Amino acid sequence: MSAWSEHARPRCARVSFEGLKDPELIERAMRALAARAPERTRIIEIGRTHEDRPILALLIGEALDDHSRPAMLLCGGTHANEVVTPELPLDAARWLLENAEDKRVARWLRTFHVVIVPLVNPDGSHGYWHVSTARGRTNRHKDAQAAELGLLEYGVDLNRNYPFQWGSVEDRFNSEDPRSPFFHGPAAGSEPEVQAMMKLGEAWRFVGMVSYHAAATRLLVPYTVEGAREPKPSAAWAVAPAMIDAVAPTPGGKRYEAVRHLYPVAGTDQDWFYWSFGTLAYLVELPFVSPGPRRPLAPMVEGARGFWQVLFDRFLDGPALTVQVPESFKAEGPVTVAVEELSWPNGERFSAHPESGVFHTYLPTAGRYTVKATSASGKTVSRAVDVGTARVVLALTESP
Ligand SMILES: [Zn+2]
Repeated sequence: MSAWSEHARPRCARVSFEGLKDPELIERAMRALAARAPERTRIIEIGRTHEDRPILALLIGEALDDHSRPAMLLCGGTHANEVVTPELPLDAARWLLENAEDKRVARWLRTFHVVIVPLVNPDGSHGYWHVSTARGRTNRHKDAQAAELGLLEYGVDLNRNYPFQWGSVEDRFNSEDPRSPFFHGPAAGSEPEVQAMMKLGEAWRFVGMVSYHAAATRLLVPYTVEGAREPKPSAAWAVAPAMIDAVAPTPGGKRYEAVRHLYPVAGTDQDWFYWSFGTLAYLVELPFVSPGPRRPLAPMVEGARGFWQVLFDRFLDGPALTVQVPESFKAEGPVTVAVEELSWPNGERFSAHPESGVFHTYLPTAGRYTVKATSASGKTVSRAVDVGTARVVLALTESP
């Protein structure tokens, strides 16, 4: 018996829950997908929630312990009341595993590690499906003040809790008030779900990421927070139009639009990943929260595949860069890698993966770039490289 058929859903003429999943069904779907291709999948627990639910990731790729490969992150269910969003990462996993022999997919699977986190907020999802559909946006962190007020929906809005410029905005949609469904949390990075995602980021240093939300039919391009200045030139803005061109219009004929944000926000996942690792981190606002007769689920999910597919292709087709730092640099500790023609104006410092010594990045355009690596003790090596329409793999060696 399905987990939610045990709990009668309220009947509503225009809303359908068919095909949507609570935390138990999402886990079951992940395990079923992994069982189809055990040689190229793994399920890991990346953290546990306040209510002790596991936060799970499905890893897809070859040699999953080899961190020299570029990694991609697809996640949903951060706002668990946006109930269609876990379906998108799950669909991507299904697509990759079912079409593994297809030439395009085989190339992705040979190169990337794809990390799928369909449900970042399992406690919120449980609250939505099993307590009240008024719940689910926040993570149900029991704040003393909120508990005292006996609120139905309480907790932290996880997409306001990441440490980059946390709390720099005070607005209706980004609140320091624990009674608000947009509460940014008691401190930056205070929530276990956010900590789990940050740890995942540290471990994988994603080159690209799509985080799914609903429902505004927008592609949010970092930086989202107004207090951050845009890097110039910006690969994130250079890649966004092709992503939008690759997705179908909504059932109503509306097209996605690339924007910085819907309203002023701070502490978002995409900004933190972008700032920490240079991850091309996009947030997709899908056209609806739950399907209905005029907005069926399958075409919307399938129609939005282009977002991640273009992101994957664009890295492999270039212009993009993979840099291997000298072994002697890596032995000293973190190795900073900078592309001198790209200016990152918010104090960003990117480093090669500590295990593999590899750094991956998209480039905005073809051209001549100077790549500089700096060791923990201050040793440097730099090299100029012409990058055309392909990805260039550059091994830096210490000068004799
Ligand atoms: Zn959302």
